[in-house]
Amino acid sequence: MSLDELRSLIYRVTLRNAVQHGGKAMINSVMSTLIAEHPELRQRARELAPIVKEMVDKVNSMSAEEQRDTLAREFGEAVEEGQKKPKPEQKVLPPLPNAQEGKVVTRFAPNPDFAIHIGNARPAILSYEYARMYKGKMVLRFEDTDPRTKTPMKEAYEMIREDLRWLGVRWDEEYIQSLRMEIFYSTMKEALSKGCAYVDLGGEESKKLISEGKPPEYRDKPPEWQLEQFDRMLSGHYKEGEAVVRFKTNVNDPNPSLRDWVAFRIIDTDAHPHPLTGDKYIVWPTYNFAVSVDDHLMGITHVLRGKEHQLNTLKQGYVYKCFKWPEPTYIHFGRLKLEGFIMSKSYIKKIMSDRPGEFMGLDDPRFGTIAGLRRRGILPESIRDVILDVGVRPGDAKLSWANLAAVNRKRLDPIADRLMFVELTGGRGIRMRLSQPDCYVAKIPLHPNRPQAVREIKVCDGDYIYVPSEDAKAPMVRLAGLGNYAVNANDGLLEFKNDSLEEARKGGYPIIQWVPEASSVRLTVLEPDGLNLIKHDGLAEGYINNYGKGSRLQFIRYGFVIIDSVNPLVAILTHT
Ligand code: GLU
Repeated sequence: MSLDELRSLIYRVTLRNAVQHGGKAMINSVMSTLIAEHPELRQRARELAPIVKEMVDKVNSMSAEEQRDTLAREFGEAVEEGQKKPKPEQKVLPPLPNAQEGKVVTRFAPNPDFAIHIGNARPAILSYEYARMYKGKMVLRFEDTDPRTKTPMKEAYEMIREDLRWLGVRWDEEYIQSLRMEIFYSTMKEALSKGCAYVDLGGEESKKLISEGKPPEYRDKPPEWQLEQFDRMLSGHYKEGEAVVRFKTNVNDPNPSLRDWVAFRIIDTDAHPHPLTGDKYIVWPTYNFAVSVDDHLMGITHVLRGKEHQLNTLKQGYVYKCFKWPEPTYIHFGRLKLEGFIMSKSYIKKIMSDRPGEFMGLDDPRFGTIAGLRRRGILPESIRDVILDVGVRPGDAKLSWANLAAVNRKRLDPIADRLMFVELTGGRGIRMRLSQPDCYVAKIPLHPNRPQAVREIKVCDGDYIYVPSEDAKAPMVRLAGLGNYAVNANDGLLEFKNDSLEEARKGGYPIIQWVPEASSVRLTVLEPDGLNLIKHDGLAEGYINNYGKGSRLQFIRYGFVIIDSVNPLVAILTHT
């Protein structure tokens, strides 16, 4: 972590600490949070101390409101104040069946084969919220036992952790299934000794028999044979497809997919190496087997997942029955249909390879990945709002980009500073000269909620400013914060008349944004539009130099943006 990153992290943790403790951050508690969240900083404790002290002084000199706003604006975090009762608009989840305070253990179990998207955020957020609500525990478990079709991506593990942290999801324990293979093997050996599973050497022939509701001959072989064959699988005797382990269910089950499902298969890891274990293992548990074993061993009391897993729940039930383990409580929620988000892993991969160099990465603001939404300027709280709103409802729900934008706008509107930007692309901005008797200083609040925080912009007679071309067609305009001007389009002049707000109102003068040429800054706004990224060049008032990467702003009469880079100055249009 560079010094700049470290300072920014400390600033953020200090702000959060202050907001949680009635406006006063405390050195010790900031230090311990830092080390808890970033254990690698322990060695740098000596370096941390003076920075923490500096940040605590800085943050404690801010008003509580400023602390909260800064945290939200610069870091996209909305933290609840300590001690305060939940605000009325805060969503409360319905109680969880069979839940006891202090005993609830939930888990989020992503496949680290890609970045998580807003659809995956639902089980993550709900599992976290319920664990918190019942003062229980939350487990993060990476389900990466399929190196062939859901090939894990080395970077995805950390990307997912990062996305969860950003969403405000915290976990108490973390596991990676590919590092627990011996546990799956020994559990399977137990199942084989109990006669709950069998090694099937019949390949396609067995598949056919099972589809006809007939047992393959291996099903009834004694446990000694099964264990010997399983050892042969483990020792590399069989190649891909030559042997699988099936869990015994009911070979006549009316639903063919439930019949003797596959619990282990051989995957040639020379051809499909696993990013964490390489070619060390060739016998891999399927999702259904690994999930049952781990949910049990990790003491999961409540499994929250989509109803597309209902059939899996039945399959997993056979493992519980075999071992006489108590089953967790399963809650299956309906589908959240997401409209207008580019999310599918295969689609994103395809467009990224079809159009090389066009996308910024998995966090491209055109994508519905959590990282993409973050880069686009969506607040984590907005994602939480929409997820808690649908909660665990079993019925299907729809979320469109417009819904999410509306929720986000409501949260950003009261906190994002408002600055002026004039777009120049396509002749949308026009340069005009001011004609006025004197120099004037416009004192414009950064936000109407904080009238005392103003920036000053000085303009004198003869200065050039830019205004939106459309507005320069009106006979009279009000330059925001400055006064009423008559538009003399032929001479490119704006002639000062007076500064009466009353007159502007009565005359219906458009109140417009403007930027003085001399102090303005060039800025590009990128607007995500489906697969396109539309470029809008323009000028922003010089005050924008006070904001860093990640700051969220509202450009007056234009839209909400987030600064994506400072040099060159680029912002992404979050939404209008
Ligand atoms: N790894 C599974 C998935 O992402 C987990 C499903 C479950 O919650 O059991 O779909």
